[in-house]
Amino acid sequence: MDNDIEEILFDQASIHEAAHRLGQQITKEYTDSRPIVLSVLKGAYLWTADLLREVELQVELEFIKISSYHGGVESTNEISLVTDIHSNVKNRDVIILEDIVDTGQSLQFMKELLQERGANSIKVATLLDKKEGRKVDIKADYVGFDVRNEFVVGYGLDYKELYRNLPYVGILKPQIYEQ
Ligand code: 5GP
Ligand code: MG
Ligand code: MG
Repeated sequence: MDNDIEEILFDQASIHEAAHRLGQQITKEYTDSRPIVLSVLKGAYLWTADLLREVELQVELEFIKISSYHGGVESTNEISLVTDIHSNVKNRDVIILEDIVDTGQSLQFMKELLQERGANSIKVATLLDKKEGRKVDIKADYVGFDVRNEFVVGYGLDYKELYRNLPYVGILKPQIYEQ
């Protein structure tokens, strides 16, 4: 697997530091609220595990699955809800956990869904923010790292469902796409 990687952008230690930094921030900002943490599958699975262990608060964990990317490296405009949550978000504070915000369309879809259901507040904690990729005007509230406009894999992020278990975030060698 490592042989397929051209460059490591964020290693395990720096991701851990980011999780610690954002975890402390969230701990301070949600002291009296018992938020619902909404982890977006599959990409956010490791980020959720690492970030939440740095949050020293009572939280409720939920998972949502949406589809946007269809296995390739290009984003699509069609977002659909694959697996919904079961808890009631009405009047609750929700923190969405994302692996990466690119066009912002997934986030917009989820924010609208939660707003329609009466959430009290909605914030977003993303490991990576690809600001240059934005197609809709939306911002993440907590950002681990800004990332340039390149396709990245690892630490939850896939290429054709592979590489999610790499412990770091990196860029694939071009010949992997060209195969
Ligand atoms: P959006 O374009 O809606 O902001 O992002 C949709 C989803 O596309 C992200 O949550 C992520 O799963 C995937 N995505 C966006 N950019 C990348 C990337 O550089 N690498 C990988 N593996 N997935 C990405
Ligand atoms: Mg995602
Ligand atoms: Mg994907």
